[in-house]
Amino acid sequence: MRKSPQSSGGLRVTKKVLGLALALGLTLGLGACDRGVDGRAIERQAEGEWLSYGRTYDEQRFSPLDEVNRETVGKLGLAWHAEFDTDRGQEATPIVHDGVLYTTTAWSKVYAFDAKTGKLLWAYDPKVPGEKGFDACCDVVNRGVAIWKDKVYVGALDGRLIALDKKTGKPAWSIQTTDAKKPYTITGAPRVVKGKVLIGNAGAEYPVRGYMSAYDADDGKMLWRFHFTPNPTGQADGAASDKAFKDFAAKTWGEGAWKLGGGGATPWDAITYDPKVDLIFVGTGNAGPWNDDIRSDTGDNLFATSIVALKPDTGEYVWHYQTTPRDAWDYDAVQHLMAADIAVGNETRRVVMQANKNGFFYVLDARTGKLLSAEKFIPANWAERVDLATGRPVEAPFARYGGEKVSTQIPGALGGHNWQPMAYSPKERLVYIPASTGRGGFGDPEKFEYLEGAWNTGMGGGRRPPPQPKQKGGQSPQAAVALPPPLEHPRGELVAWDPSTQKARWRVPFKESWRSGVLATGGDLVFHAVGREFVAFDATTGKRLWAYDTQAPAIAPAATYAIDGEQYVALMVGYGGAGGMGGDQPRRRGRLLVFKLGGTAKAPLYPAAVQQASLDLASAETPGGDIARGAARYGQLCGQCHGQGGYLPNLARSPAILSRDGFSAIVLGGALKERGMASFARFLKPEEVEDVRAFLLQQAKADAAAAAPKPPQELDHAR
Ligand code: CA
Repeated sequence: MRKSPQSSGGLRVTKKVLGLALALGLTLGLGACDRGVDGRAIERQAEGEWLSYGRTYDEQRFSPLDEVNRETVGKLGLAWHAEFDTDRGQEATPIVHDGVLYTTTAWSKVYAFDAKTGKLLWAYDPKVPGEKGFDACCDVVNRGVAIWKDKVYVGALDGRLIALDKKTGKPAWSIQTTDAKKPYTITGAPRVVKGKVLIGNAGAEYPVRGYMSAYDADDGKMLWRFHFTPNPTGQADGAASDKAFKDFAAKTWGEGAWKLGGGGATPWDAITYDPKVDLIFVGTGNAGPWNDDIRSDTGDNLFATSIVALKPDTGEYVWHYQTTPRDAWDYDAVQHLMAADIAVGNETRRVVMQANKNGFFYVLDARTGKLLSAEKFIPANWAERVDLATGRPVEAPFARYGGEKVSTQIPGALGGHNWQPMAYSPKERLVYIPASTGRGGFGDPEKFEYLEGAWNTGMGGGRRPPPQPKQKGGQSPQAAVALPPPLEHPRGELVAWDPSTQKARWRVPFKESWRSGVLATGGDLVFHAVGREFVAFDATTGKRLWAYDTQAPAIAPAATYAIDGEQYVALMVGYGGAGGMGGDQPRRRGRLLVFKLGGTAKAPLYPAAVQQASLDLASAETPGGDIARGAARYGQLCGQCHGQGGYLPNLARSPAILSRDGFSAIVLGGALKERGMASFARFLKPEEVEDVRAFLLQQAKADAAAAAPKPPQELDHAR
């Protein structure tokens, strides 16, 4: 049997470790043997471990470890690294227990490593069908595992919740948590509370109905489920959510396209348990379709874009706070929820906090959900403020679009803060937010066409106005109110936010808006990856103290742990996710980098990015299709993944468009389905595929004419 590093004779017991062990009433003998992780272990965590997604149940992402600190961080170097077989986005937080590091990659694959040496102990591939990639709005990512007793749990992209034996990685049980015929996905990490595995789902850009479920950690038996939208049939679900919908939530929906799809509100990331108040807090996604006029004829649409508190034993509703009533802008409320004791006025309050996608930082009373404060952490302009008396945002007049009125506002659909977790330092009493300040445009489509099983946001560039005489100055009064002030702000910021005063202590601006999550440590450091650099900032001042060239951007948050008295910092590297798919980075295979003081390991260089050869457009078969029809279909079905250039192939630069049969073999025949490109035979007739090809060839010709510089493309395509 592998010897546990923590039971080895070489354990350097620091005074702090000893003190902590004694404070917990543990003898060193007991502390050294692995009794498996339970709620007590997660709650009162030994300082060298990282046992749950946000480390402790309150998800503060703070580790008290301080061997790596302001004075020593300059000596931080690579201890070991691991390479993965996928070049899609990596979003996992490594979990570390008893000398073993558990992580996941894109496509929901699970790995266990010796956390000290990097030796692979086991790997598990749930073999998610490649075409499931079509159902993932924002890449085929996975945010990591949960551990409990003798098992490791992963939510697979295709909706399965899988329990693995902690020692061997062999499946113990597997449950399909979603209707496999519908475009649900799971990207979030499970949490385990009181012997129950909590798992949500994703897919609110598609026709799905969000819910969270609790399964028995031992055998996978479902214990309760809470839906976040009403049942479109008007019937009860026989679920924990029935009472809340009957009492008040169902009437906030009315009629509309939500009845076709289910209304969205998927809880795809945030699940926080607060043992102090014995409640689970869940963040829910956008309402679907995004366009509120298409979605619903009335009301706030509960529990979309909300923070909902439930009892862990039964799933019973306790309170909710809706951050964006009647959301129309994809302002999911799924961002990392953090429980903490903070000063509010003259007293210490138990609160739950969120840096929401909509640009406001919310502080709520953890017991009651009462809004204590809400302020902008970025220059959001869609709302002037949040009215503390009503708890509702005071929306700017330009934000609600419709007809020919469009809105270009801050933040856009990527949000002022997306899923990348923030961290809290109880030493500094600051929350470190990986924020961004991009804006986005919203408007009605010319015509809304519901597509079963596909992207249905109800977005367009605004309905074209009927021809009318030109106004003086060439601008209609409508256009004059539709546009907010120009964006004069950096595209990204690490914000050190004081949640008591709701003010920034410091900000570090970046040109990159899509960056990593954040880790805060007792060494007074904040770890954050920006572009190709993994950086340690001074937690007090924001001063940059250390950086390492990761060769490819990381978007995942780092974790830290200690073995034999040495502190390690672990980071999953690999660009992707919602913002990464639209980025201009070459595709790189995922990597786990683990650092320690004095580390001298070297990760091999990635192969040089190569310029993609120009298309030989003269050899293209003349398309039989119609360019305008093809443009419309492309916008509806293809543009979400391919239209932004860079991460997934830019089809106007793909040799596949040169040949009618070759293009059809991929688009209809599913030739590349294992790589994530599903067959579109459900949506497109053969002549429509030629329409799309005609449009793409026209784009390719326009590109060639403009001789635009071509971004580097990685030719070594993994899945
Ligand atoms: Ca969303």
